[in-house]
Amino acid sequence: MVVRLRAAGAVLLGKTNTDEFAMGSSTENSAFFATHNPWDLERVPGGSSGGSAAAVAADECLAALGTDTGGSVRQPASLCGIVGLKPTYGRISRYGLIAYASSLDQVGTLTKDVADAALLLEVLAGRDPRDSTSADVAVPRYTAGLAKGVRGLRLGVIREWLEHPGLDSGVAVALQEAMKTLMALGAEVQDVTLPHSDYALPVYYLIAPAEASSNLARYDGVAYGFRASGAVDIWELFARTRGVGFGAEVKRRIMLGTYALSAGYYDQYYKKAQQVRTLIKADFDRAFEAVDVVVGPTSPVPAFKLGERVDDPLQMYLADIFTISVNLAGLPAISVPCGFADDLPVGIQFIGRPWDEATLLRVAYAYEHATSWHTRKPKILTVAGKP
Ligand code: GLN
Repeated sequence: MVVRLRAAGAVLLGKTNTDEFAMGSSTENSAFFATHNPWDLERVPGGSSGGSAAAVAADECLAALGTDTGGSVRQPASLCGIVGLKPTYGRISRYGLIAYASSLDQVGTLTKDVADAALLLEVLAGRDPRDSTSADVAVPRYTAGLAKGVRGLRLGVIREWLEHPGLDSGVAVALQEAMKTLMALGAEVQDVTLPHSDYALPVYYLIAPAEASSNLARYDGVAYGFRASGAVDIWELFARTRGVGFGAEVKRRIMLGTYALSAGYYDQYYKKAQQVRTLIKADFDRAFEAVDVVVGPTSPVPAFKLGERVDDPLQMYLADIFTISVNLAGLPAISVPCGFADDLPVGIQFIGRPWDEATLLRVAYAYEHATSWHTRKPKILTVAGKP
């Protein structure tokens, strides 16, 4: 990615903050410090790519990259009022990335508008011989197709998500307004149903930790990564390195994942989760027989307060209920600003058919150009509240 960006003339400014191993929804699991949301410094920017989202929202850079395993590009984009694109699984090379959950991870972009997302995807997408999971699928000129409009396109609103009890009323209102705007632009809007929606969260929290526990096994202090000092033998070296080197959330996931993969539980948990994953994907396949793009909220709530969920993993996991099924199904999706709830940004999520980022970008662009949400900027204050 870096090579492609540099070759296209991009100037790389630095690295941004993230939850440790991209595990989290608030950037509070960072090994360095928590990132604050530029719209309200007492609130989280989302996560795990919260550093990237905050940097773009605060105008510190033009665009940023992140990875999206269960929502980590779209959810922080939504909470920071910017555009977050997660392409189809396999669209962008993962060469050079640290793997979290290999069957879900995909690189995404965080930008100020849809045109920038199209521009970046054009540069980043495409087969890379150094990543065998990167697909050999033609990359269209996304920027050329942006302005085609939405007239005649069929959009399907996910009923289960709009009726979800965890959906904030302000987010629901913003979404309904956005659908009206899209209808006024000529889109045909109908309901779609994803009957296995409720299983997405438990399925994700079996599959992602299982794959993470396997991927993170390489952090044993011998050939890869951090090594703890003072061990008298190899067993102590493993134990110390992993005991000191990983944070609490990462350890929790390693334990969950190791358990789900262990003999005797594999069929009961991991295999079952894979089977339900297939049903979740089939729900989307059915929806795409009737519509071209599926629509829903990105995050159930606007940015929550720092510290509010960090000690309650289940509450934190709920931040991803509307983003993870997209990763489980391997689909492309984009989050675009669609209003405010309690003065905090809200995002609308468009989900597309595999490899059809072009239609997604086209819908997002049409919506963005009919609204002015993306032009609003946070007033940047210091932590003490001064400009
Ligand atoms: N919040 C989700 C998790 O903790 C997704 C993270 C991500 O997409 N990297 O796993």
